Amino acid sequence: AQERYASIRDKPATTKCGKTISLHMNAGLMADLPSLEGSGAEGVGLFRTELQFLVRNQMPKRSELSALYAKVLDAAGGKRVVFRTLDIGSDKVLPYMKPNDEPNPALGWRAIRVGLDKPGVMRMQLQALLRAANGRPLTIMFPFVAQYEEYTAAKAEMQKAIERERILGHPLPEKLEIGAMLETPSLAFAPDKFYEEVDFLSIGGNDLKQFFFAADRENERVRRRYDTLNVSFLTFLGNIVKRCDASGTALSFCGEDAGRPVEAVCLAAMGMRTLSMRPASIGPVKNILRSIDLDGLRRVIEDAGLRGDQSVRPAVLDYLRKQS
Ligand code: PEP
Ligand code: MG
Repeated sequence: AQERYASIRDKPATTKCGKTISLHMNAGLMADLPSLEGSGAEGVGLFRTELQFLVRNQMPKRSELSALYAKVLDAAGGKRVVFRTLDIGSDKVLPYMKPNDEPNPALGWRAIRVGLDKPGVMRMQLQALLRAANGRPLTIMFPFVAQYEEYTAAKAEMQKAIERERILGHPLPEKLEIGAMLETPSLAFAPDKFYEEVDFLSIGGNDLKQFFFAADRENERVRRRYDTLNVSFLTFLGNIVKRCDASGTALSFCGEDAGRPVEAVCLAAMGMRTLSMRPASIGPVKNILRSIDLDGLRRVIEDAGLRGDQSVRPAVLDYLRKQS
């Protein structure tokens, strides 16, 4: 299937109405990196660092992590890699950590909450990332931030790690970007200072959607019940885009929906300009983006909303059929 899209691999995802969408890939293991070249991705928009912790039977050492992250940066050859710090808990349980017995793990002690309450592992990881960068640009993203103060606390840990490296005489990244994932509805309503201070935001649509609809992403009975193209959800996403535009905050979307062509064009129509997805989705998503008029699609979405449609999907599919 990749061959089918080979002819557009090195072309930009520029729409009929002249907007260029930046396409990045999601990764988590060294084995994913060759796809960076093959898929035509501009960079790694989400590197899920927990996978390295999940495939082992004991906590990795800092030196092992830093060697691995250095290899990832080498393989990326200067393309941007967004390293997401450890996102454990909920559906991702480390085999060598005491499981905590929680009634609602998805709403429980996970991701940045663990990182801030027990900072040992997060500090080790931040240090490993700084060492791996060895003076090169570095991009770090904190998962599951639900309020401004969690971002500032995590950033303070990063500052401490930088200070330690400076004292030890290690080179510091020539450029450092520190962003957050927007995966809880609360962050959409965070104060302006959050949007101004954060270097970038990435919408984790998988989690954001589960919390928006209160529908467990792991529960087969409910996980497909609510459409991503539901008018309320798209309106919500549109409001996040507006806030980011107002504060000049770089925004991307890295949930699974970014890799589904129909969903991807709707996200672009709502104003998302950077999408990150599994490598195999880049060709199909680029292909549809290059054929679409986002202004026209935006009108279709808005009309569906005004009519009171539950989901814009039928209207969007109809529009896409007429375009082809
Ligand atoms: C998400 O929640 O959309 C996301 C990208 O992170 P994960 O799927 O790893 O929770
Ligand atoms: Mg998530």
